[in-house]
Amino acid sequence: MTSPTSPASSRVALVTGAAQGIGHAAAARFLAEGWSVVMLDWKKDVLVAAAEAFRAPDRVLALHKDVSQPSDVAAALDEVRTRFGRLDALVNNAGIAHFGPLMETPLEAWNEVMAVNVTGPFMMTKAAVPLMRETGGAIVNITSISSLRASTLRVAYGTSKAALGHLTKQMAVELASYGIRVNAVAPGPVDTAMAKKVHSPEIRADYHDAIPLNRYGLPEELADAIVYLCSPGASYITGQTLAVDGGFDATGIGLPTLRRDQRNG
Ligand code: NAD
Repeated sequence: MTSPTSPASSRVALVTGAAQGIGHAAAARFLAEGWSVVMLDWKKDVLVAAAEAFRAPDRVLALHKDVSQPSDVAAALDEVRTRFGRLDALVNNAGIAHFGPLMETPLEAWNEVMAVNVTGPFMMTKAAVPLMRETGGAIVNITSISSLRASTLRVAYGTSKAALGHLTKQMAVELASYGIRVNAVAPGPVDTAMAKKVHSPEIRADYHDAIPLNRYGLPEELADAIVYLCSPGASYITGQTLAVDGGFDATGIGLPTLRRDQRNG
């Protein structure tokens, strides 16, 4: 595996869903570390504007693709090989959320969430491995705290992210022999376009009651964890899920009560 020891300036990362939010922050962080970045997204205008704003045309490739479409996925990896000839990191970040109760979740919504959040990373990984194995590298799948603990309204979203969490382990076990590490980052709530769409005032209040650090995370805080897992510093880490969640996964009952007592005490 040569990738972990090669200089950052020669490394290439492909980030899906890179036009905005957590993926955009990850792309910015890779660029700041000297990497070249392939930004893939299905929102063309936002993608093109975001890529141009980095003002690094020699190190940025914007690909207008849909991770749930097999022909798009194949074409994307062809373009990466043609442009850069190598791939050191793949961040399967593109995702969609449908929040609703089990009995009100249409099959179409379920299928769409699974196609983007599970089948997308499956196809992207299969397409990327032939190029990645030439140097070795790292894959990071973006799951969610909804993959770690169940709650209401997340039947499709939470199940898709739990599947991606297990897919992470399957990939880690199989791809280790190619010198490819695979880990997951499970974000807590981050105030991106996705959160603005599905986090009602009630959900926001619930999160504040359930998060020891008592705030939403920042896209940049997620980017730090993603880029770390792709770095030489993480060279012996594979098959793990890192929750970047302000302590959500660690806590159980009692947090609002404790806070109230602290305020009153
Ligand atoms: P976002 O909506 O701001 O960004 C997601 C990006 O993915 C968008 O640019 C969108 O166009 C792109 N995308 C979606 N489907 C695509 C597809 N089929 N093909 C190509 N691009 C596609 O959301 P975000 O909050 O930055 O989410 C990033 C990841 O983090 C997602 O996987 C999400 O599930 C996960 N996550 C987010 C939160 C949160 O609170 N924001 C919490 C846990 C996990």
